[in-house]
Amino acid sequence: MRVELGDLSRSLAEERADLLTAMAAVVDSGWLVHGPQHAAFERELADLVGASHALGVASGTDALELALKATMPPGRSAVATVANAGGYTTTAALRAGLDVALVDIEPEALLIDPTDVARVLAERADVGVVVVTHLFGRAADVAAVRAVAAPHGVAVVEDCAQAIGARTATGPVGSLADAAAFSFYPTKNLGALGDGGAITTTRADVVEAVAALRQYGWGAKYEVTLPGGVNSRLDEIQAAVLRTRLPRLAAGNARRREIAATYSRAASPRLRVVASDGPEYVGHLGVVETAERAALTDHLDAAGIAWGIHYPVPDHRQPAWAARFSGVSLPRTEAAAERILTIPLHPELRPDEVERVGRALATF
Ligand SMILES: *Cc1c(COP(=O)(O)O)cnc(C)c1O
Repeated sequence: MRVELGDLSRSLAEERADLLTAMAAVVDSGWLVHGPQHAAFERELADLVGASHALGVASGTDALELALKATMPPGRSAVATVANAGGYTTTAALRAGLDVALVDIEPEALLIDPTDVARVLAERADVGVVVVTHLFGRAADVAAVRAVAAPHGVAVVEDCAQAIGARTATGPVGSLADAAAFSFYPTKNLGALGDGGAITTTRADVVEAVAALRQYGWGAKYEVTLPGGVNSRLDEIQAAVLRTRLPRLAAGNARRREIAATYSRAASPRLRVVASDGPEYVGHLGVVETAERAALTDHLDAAGIAWGIHYPVPDHRQPAWAARFSGVSLPRTEAAAERILTIPLHPELRPDEVERVGRALATF
């Protein structure tokens, strides 16, 4: 039996009765969108991250798009972000009609490099928002990015899709900047039974803008007061599912952290487990870095362990975007894309599976 990168059927089987009960209650209630489950979930998510408000939307990419629209200062038209985070922010920015300025990463945790943010902001006066992605489950240094951005009048948005529940010295992710985006895609640490997303913020103007933008730009029913509106709602069934799962999040994150620690202890000197300790880390993806990736994938294949690459193609090398980013060079992002490898890390892994992965890392 292979050790898989993910296996949703395990948690679905375990939670089956609770999920069906929650969904049946929605059917019986007659509320299908923006009802009591949605309102209660927004409250619970805001409390979890320490923001004054949470607003449900249909996906994490929608959350990014609406957060960008709501925080972009007047007269600005570009977003600065990293190129190693799957392209979600670039997708959202382009859909919002905004340009993208790509920033390099630091070599340790492979997260946004505040020094390179400073370089980009000095070069480009059109940038109005920096998106900080808490990649692989690790909180990035939002305070350092804010310190660089503030003198330029630039807002900061967190992408928390991979790091719900991570905590920093100054508070949980989702409470550290002007706004934050969450995804509840089924494989995320808090997953729905389909798509879902949310925005958290403590800025009253952002709450008002997102509340309008997610429903056609309505300020009041049938009255369009904001341009750029979309239809992006988190439905009652998904909200009820998320409320059922929310109480299990902390234990799942703790288990993810524990598995990552096991891998770190086991790892051969020919690889390193990318920054994976402390409350700042919630183990969304188990990422290792090695100069000998082909040899490592052969070794894992032989041991029956699944692997992946998150992400193989940086944004500026994506076929559809390459022309837009011609001339962009991000040396650390490009080097990391050749060296990273994702190994199984999810709370449903059995102890014998964790041990097998650990042994494979040790014997490489
Ligand atoms: C999953 C993910 C998103 C997008 O979320 P969707 O719900 O799939 O739209 C955005 N950013 C990051 C870092 C993600 O991992």
